[in-house]
Amino acid sequence: MLSRRGLLAPTCGLTLAALALTGCAGPEGSDGRLSVSASFYPLQFVAQEVGGDRVDVSSLTPPGAEPHDLELSPSQVSSLRSADLVVYLSGFQPSVDEAVESAGPAHVVDAADATTLVPFSEENVEEVDEHGHEAHAGEDEHDHAHDGHDHGDLDPHFWLDPTLLAPVAQAVAAQLSELDPDGAAEFEANAAALASRLGELDTAFEEGLAACERRVFVTTHTAFGYLADRYGLEEVGISGVDPEAEPSPARLVEIHDVVEREGVTTIFFEALVSPKVAQTLATDLGIESAVLDPLEGVSGSQTYFSVAEDNLQALQTALGCS
Ligand SMILES: [Zn+2]
Repeated sequence: MLSRRGLLAPTCGLTLAALALTGCAGPEGSDGRLSVSASFYPLQFVAQEVGGDRVDVSSLTPPGAEPHDLELSPSQVSSLRSADLVVYLSGFQPSVDEAVESAGPAHVVDAADATTLVPFSEENVEEVDEHGHEAHAGEDEHDHAHDGHDHGDLDPHFWLDPTLLAPVAQAVAAQLSELDPDGAAEFEANAAALASRLGELDTAFEEGLAACERRVFVTTHTAFGYLADRYGLEEVGISGVDPEAEPSPARLVEIHDVVEREGVTTIFFEALVSPKVAQTLATDLGIESAVLDPLEGVSGSQTYFSVAEDNLQALQTALGCS
């Protein structure tokens, strides 16, 4: 099968000087490293960890931006054509799905194929339905998220269960090893090391959330279904899966009831979206508001692991875990 790289090869064949400058002898970019384009932070993190010094990873979602409704510039779309590897999650960012389809990069990891996605929690779906929303929680995203492919109502936020991120690292290692066979042992070792750290994080969550006074937590952005499932908790989402959606008055009444019934102490909001809804609701209910980060982006010196550890602490405080 003719690779896309083969089609692009003539751009390399100019002069010896150009060859020396562009490093066209192999698949690598101008600095001799593979270029990897990741669609948003957790996948960027995985690509960086697995690729190490042999890759140059960029993210389509700028730091601090909310990834769900990302729009891509024409130059970003064409950058997917020249990237050695694209790592994305189909069904999550419609603009990225379209760009991957149109650019047709030769080497792709679709995290939806590499790991195991499940539908949104029935409880969050039903609770929204009961109150007369036109669409259930999974379908809120449909008009922009799920058009034209088959991931249906699957919840995209798999990276909040650390055990589901490890298989993506394996898939990235396999693709990088094809592109750079000399680095294969390094990629495999890096993926194994990352899987091991993710396993330790999983254990920390399991032990840290084993003995808690409460199991129900309330979030503005319904992003923590995988985390809740993994550790035996129950997430009640205020606004469904669209982090910017305003909750209906009926939904707010229901949240009020859940808070009273379950003795909820904290309304969680996420770092990338205005905390106004959460803070107003928490003030009305006389309880706390705090950050629970869906890890869709990081800022400053934060990493996947540092944010996950902050999340664990926030949950332990809110749920009264010993
Ligand atoms: Zn999200």
